[in-house]
Amino acid sequence: MQVVKPMQVALVDLAAQYQSIKPEIDEAIQRILDNTSFIMGHEVQAFEEAFATHVEAAGAVGVSSGTAAIELSLRALGIGAGDEVITSAHTFIATAEAITNAGARPVFADIDPVTFNIDPNQVETLITDRTRAILPVHLYGQPADLTSLMEIATRRGLWLIEDAAQAHGAEVDGRRCGSIGHLSCFSFYPGKNLGAYGDAGAVTGNDTQLLDRIRRSRDHGRTTKYEHVEVGFAERIDALQAAILGAKLPHLEAWTEGRRSHARRYTDLLAGADVTTPVEAPGLRHVYHLYVLRSARRDELLAHLKANGVAAGIHYPIPLHRQPAYAKQGYDGVSLPETERAAAEVISLPMYPELTDDQLTQVADAVRSFGS
Ligand SMILES: *Cc1c(COP(=O)(O)O)cnc(C)c1O
Repeated sequence: MQVVKPMQVALVDLAAQYQSIKPEIDEAIQRILDNTSFIMGHEVQAFEEAFATHVEAAGAVGVSSGTAAIELSLRALGIGAGDEVITSAHTFIATAEAITNAGARPVFADIDPVTFNIDPNQVETLITDRTRAILPVHLYGQPADLTSLMEIATRRGLWLIEDAAQAHGAEVDGRRCGSIGHLSCFSFYPGKNLGAYGDAGAVTGNDTQLLDRIRRSRDHGRTTKYEHVEVGFAERIDALQAAILGAKLPHLEAWTEGRRSHARRYTDLLAGADVTTPVEAPGLRHVYHLYVLRSARRDELLAHLKANGVAAGIHYPIPLHRQPAYAKQGYDGVSLPETERAAAEVISLPMYPELTDDQLTQVADAVRSFGS
């Protein structure tokens, strides 16, 4: 008997994107090899200006990663030892890690079960006289409730830092994420909606003095070639990555629309299936970094999809307060019921702009055939 192996659908396909714009990428890389301007310089500045324009913010500072973007932002705001920063535990560990490494303490608020983003009502109850900032994550590409969070931040005299690592091009009432909070942090990790070919990140915002502080701290606290006015960091973006990102940026809008169209198709195809499909909250532009379902039998569904050639993922299976790294720091008594339920139920379907309709249909068929 001949066993027909199903076609494989990957969670992300970075090769497909490279093939679609190969000449532009190759030209950008060759330009850097020819001019040997590997650190700072024109390419970095040009990308920063283009990215600030995309985000509709006054400026952008290229840094070495999304994690560095968050830590440098906290430090630029003077947040450190003795301070508390309210954030979500249903996120990648970098969000909290940057707070801890800046010397402050992350305080975890529970999430809204529909959007998976930090619940502003929970934030309000956790504010103490040590709280300095709120750090919402726009998880999966859906903006957090920035309208409520900015209102709380303004009323309580707190900074608001956006973790926009998954939210390039996302919007709240027509305003871009990255231009709303006091500072915003982007990652260009290869699998992100705008991805480099290595590590890279950026801080954006409208307060140019704050941005200048980060511009200095990422580059050894330098004001001129030989003068260092503070002890800084080696957290610059590489010129090679800036050139690659600059070549990709003009395509980002089309890629985002591709993701949004795939999400609508999945949601249509999955109508009636025994899963909860994602909801785009009113007034928000979700950019579908990930398309995340809920299932009461998540682990079985994951295995079923794998058997049908579909690589799904889990973002994220262990909430941060349950990570050994944070349990060790005294978070083991923390209870976040919605965060814990999400961690047990979420499953991410393949999502990238180059997905074909055959692939979308195969994935949806695999989900629908589960348990039948
Ligand atoms: C990817 C990511 C980061 C960290 O970005 P890096 O560039 O990998 O350092 C931070 N927060 C969230 C929500 C992320 O998804």
